Amino acid sequence: MMNFIGSVERDDWKTESWTTRGTAEECANDYKGWHEEVHLMIRNAPSLFKWALLGRSPMDRWTIGHVSLLGDACHPTLPSLGQGAMMAIEDGFVLARCFERYSSDVGTALARYEDARRDRTRRVVTGSAENAKRFHNPALASRDGAQAYVDGEWSEDRIKQRYEWLFTYDVTSVER
Ligand SMILES: Cc1cc2nc3c(=O)[nH]c(=O)nc-3n(C[C@H](O)[C@H](O)[C@H](O)COP(=O)(O)OP(=O)(O)OC[C@H]3O[C@@H](n4cnc5c(N)ncnc54)[C@H](O)[C@@H]3O)c2cc1C
Repeated sequence: MMNFIGSVERDDWKTESWTTRGTAEECANDYKGWHEEVHLMIRNAPSLFKWALLGRSPMDRWTIGHVSLLGDACHPTLPSLGQGAMMAIEDGFVLARCFERYSSDVGTALARYEDARRDRTRRVVTGSAENAKRFHNPALASRDGAQAYVDGEWSEDRIKQRYEWLFTYDVTSVER
């Protein structure tokens, strides 16, 4: 089984749907000039869908009284840090722990949950948006430009700066 995801930049496609069908011709056109094996895969795809990646700014709050949100509903993020599902799982964990601690006070439990999660999820949303620009940087279009850009942006130090905070977070010790 093979799953193929291609991402092209355009700003004229803003339909919010997961089920809009694309065609092999359209996809092949997006990857005109690419290696024959890419085209072989596109030609043989039994079905193709197309959807827009729509960036959203972080929300300042997502809890009102006894109503709150978690996951993509309150911090939808571009996929460029690969952390959307992780954030939903962490939210769930912290939410459960807040309810454990403030079991008799739903409002406080939800407010504490949101406080505990706001900065981290905000950083993921903005970090993903920055990474999207990095992955699609025009410098990558030429061999020399790409080499210099990769050397600068993907050095060990730069990678640590961008990712270490993500993977050193311990959801079990978050203050609630
Ligand atoms: C291309 C791509 C790559 C990704 N890669 C990664 C990755 O590598 N790592 C990572 O951590 N995350 C990744 N993500 C993000 C991840 O998939 C999402 O962040 C995650 O699924 C969000 O979970 P959620 O539970 O908040 O929302 P969802 O998974 O969207 O769940 C919401 C559910 O609610 C249902 N629903 C909606 N409306 C109603 C209704 N009215 N009644 C009943 N049900 C309803 C929907 O059908 C859906 O099943 C990626 C996303 C994309 C698009």
